[in-house]
Amino acid sequence: MGRSNNTISRKAVSRRDFTAMAALLGGMSLAGPASAQSLGNILGSAKKVAEASSYSDAEMRVFFDQMSADMDSKNPVAGPDDPYGQRLAALSSGLENYDGLDLDIKAYLVSDVNAFAMANGTIRIFAGLMDQFTDDEVRYVIGHEIGHVQREHTKKRMQGALQREAALSVAGTADSKVNAIAGSELGKFFGDVIGAQHSQKHERQADDYALEFMQDKGYDAQACVTALEKLEAMSGGSGGGLAAWTATHPSPKARAKRMRKKID
Ligand SMILES: [Zn+2]
Repeated sequence: MGRSNNTISRKAVSRRDFTAMAALLGGMSLAGPASAQSLGNILGSAKKVAEASSYSDAEMRVFFDQMSADMDSKNPVAGPDDPYGQRLAALSSGLENYDGLDLDIKAYLVSDVNAFAMANGTIRIFAGLMDQFTDDEVRYVIGHEIGHVQREHTKKRMQGALQREAALSVAGTADSKVNAIAGSELGKFFGDVIGAQHSQKHERQADDYALEFMQDKGYDAQACVTALEKLEAMSGGSGGGLAAWTATHPSPKARAKRMRKKID
């Protein structure tokens, strides 16, 4: 039994919380006061913010693990009996470990056209995207998101945000002040790590990785192009949040053209 767009829950993730398509097109896009608070708890209790520059990979993984769990608790994750869950499980079969990464790939039953990845290998693909994309185009998205993980884009962003937080905390010497700054700055902090756009350079790197992924797995590499062309077509219409996105970001058209050139 299939689900139409209309039956997919939107209540868990609204446009206010997610910038439509930002994850796939230019960056990751999720935010939420509760998530930010969770991160704040870690920052406040596990380690002083002033020591942020010394966070290890293992410690940062704790942050991402908590953010992933928090996001999954707030969004409807497609289970093994759900058609979206079954389709994505089939498309991502064998990718539990890929290129040295432990990956956790699941679908959210949310109608936005979106996807995101975190440095701990969490990859979430939205049902709204799966409705629009062929199997190979979804595989391109998976490859693109693996690329963001493999090239450590979110990890670098986390490091940068932690260091900016550390710089802020210099102004406040008392521990309570540090915690207060951490809390009051968390919205911005969380947005820096998760909600901000990836740079075009990072998008190109993720696209390049996706192309290698498609070729490595023997999938149709043309799907990289057609997926981006679909995004371009969607963003060109009256796509609500998409219109706002395209007002401030380069269109996927150039990325599609670039990918086509690499394939031909
Ligand atoms: Zn991307």
